[in-house]
This record gives sequence, C-alpha cells and structure tokens, in this order.
Amino acid sequence: MHEYSLAEKILDAILKEAEKIKAKKIKRIEISANKLTHINEEELKFSFKMVSKNTIAEDAEINIEYSQGKIFCKECKKEYILDDFFGRCPKCSSSLVEIVDEIVVSNMEIEK
Ligand SMILES: [Zn+2]
Repeated sequence: MHEYSLAEKILDAILKEAEKIKAKKIKRIEISANKLTHINEEELKFSFKMVSKNTIAEDAEINIEYSQGKIFCKECKKEYILDDFFGRCPKCSSSLVEIVDEIVVSNMEIEK
C-alpha cells in the first residue's frame, strides 16, 4: 500500500518539525504532492489516521495540493516537467528516472 508508507513519511517529517518548534499539537498540515504520484487521497487520509494515533498529530486535518510533475533522469542527469509519466525519460527513453519531491509537507498549523 503506497499511501501507507507516504503517511508514515509525512508523520515522521511533521513530528520532527514539531519537536524543533516545541509544538503541543498539530492541527493542520498542508501537503504538496507531485502530480505524477497518483495519490488516493482518501486512502492517504485513512492511513495517516492510523499511523498518527496517540501522537500529537492525531487529529490533524490534511490538505493536499498538487505540484508540477517533476522527474529526474539519472541518464541525462536532468529534471523534466511532465504532464504524463510512463516510467521513461521523455528525452533519452531511459527507465532510470525517478519522481522528484513525491510528497512534501509545505505548511503546518500547530498549538503550543
Ligand atoms: Zn534521460
């Protein structure tokens, strides 16, 4: 389940950040997802609820925004912006490509 591991990644990132700024509770988080990632929002929110249980992020509301479809080709050593991605570099057709910034926490609202 892809969404489950993304939810774990998100939780990990926000708990670390919350510790730095000494937050008591995380109320809302904004997530920027690469539009090529194909996230099932419902599943992501559900997974997040499960992984965040008994943490300060337990009741956090999640907002998802989609960013540009950026990929990186290890063959060309270059980034490309795509609307559709079929697992290959648009320039050299290499399959050594990865989605950049799959999911990034762009903002969060906390209580101190
Ligand atoms: Zn390439």
